Amino acid sequence: MNWYTEQWSGETKFSIAYDKQLYSEKTPFQQIDFYKGNEFGTFFTLDGLMMVNEKDEFIYHDMIVHPAFATNPGIKSVLIIGGGDGGTAREVLRYRIVEKVVMAEIDEQVFRLCQEYLPITASGIEEDSRMELRFEDGLAYVRNTPDQSFDLILVDSTDPISVGEGLFTTEFYKECYRVLNKHGILINQHESPYFAEYAANMKKAHQKIKAIFPITNVYQYHMPTYPSGHWLFGFASKSYDPLQDLQAEAWNKFGLETKYYNTDLHRGAFALPNYVKEALVRDE
Ligand code: SAM
Repeated sequence: MNWYTEQWSGETKFSIAYDKQLYSEKTPFQQIDFYKGNEFGTFFTLDGLMMVNEKDEFIYHDMIVHPAFATNPGIKSVLIIGGGDGGTAREVLRYRIVEKVVMAEIDEQVFRLCQEYLPITASGIEEDSRMELRFEDGLAYVRNTPDQSFDLILVDSTDPISVGEGLFTTEFYKECYRVLNKHGILINQHESPYFAEYAANMKKAHQKIKAIFPITNVYQYHMPTYPSGHWLFGFASKSYDPLQDLQAEAWNKFGLETKYYNTDLHRGAFALPNYVKEALVRDE
């Protein structure tokens, strides 16, 4: 039995058994490793951190995509920043109303390797005529995008370290604001409230977004293989409130089968624990 171990904090480690390491490569951007195990199936890590596995990817990809569509069922144009495994794009492309999806992923290798080793998230993406794949830095992409280009931006990034750092800056959030139209919604990978390092990243991201968007909120979901399992997304918008403007009936009419998301859970996800609410409002 081999063990993959991720250090969640100074005194916490998380390990997953695997039968075989499928692939390993240092790209110009990061270290990519693919493993195959029993409990979690095939999984891959970037710079040693768990990214996606077959067992719980449905949770993350349901929750990064569906709350926005349940708030604005009229979304037609979507920009995904990062998301190289394809899972976020897969969920967006299920909406027939969507006409255009751009995925700006800095490392083409992530996508190509997921097409080979993780078809559950990456297969069928490139073949969808609505999909435009751009293998470039997400910050550079939004800088060069005209005003009011998208209804929705989904920031499916790694943590604010190394290549991911630029996606947690005020400049990036301001560019996202400019590139979104008047009904625009920004969903971002918003880290976690539990371990100090992730909680610090969560607070910093929230302070920056709150200074730019008129409507900001945070919602939670249970992600077993991410540090502490308690993980968040940010919901920022120019005009839609994710609770007051929730259109549950319209979303249910899409008739999408989902293993995690539903419109009751949508409401619940925005009901945060007191310690998380306090951390989000505290400035320091
Ligand atoms: N679900 C995962 C999580 O929450 O950590 C992230 C999914 S996906 C694998 C993260 C992607 O962000 C990676 O493929 C990485 O290459 C990409 N990425 C990191 N920095 C980026 C940047 N500046 N521009 C575009 N993509 C970036």
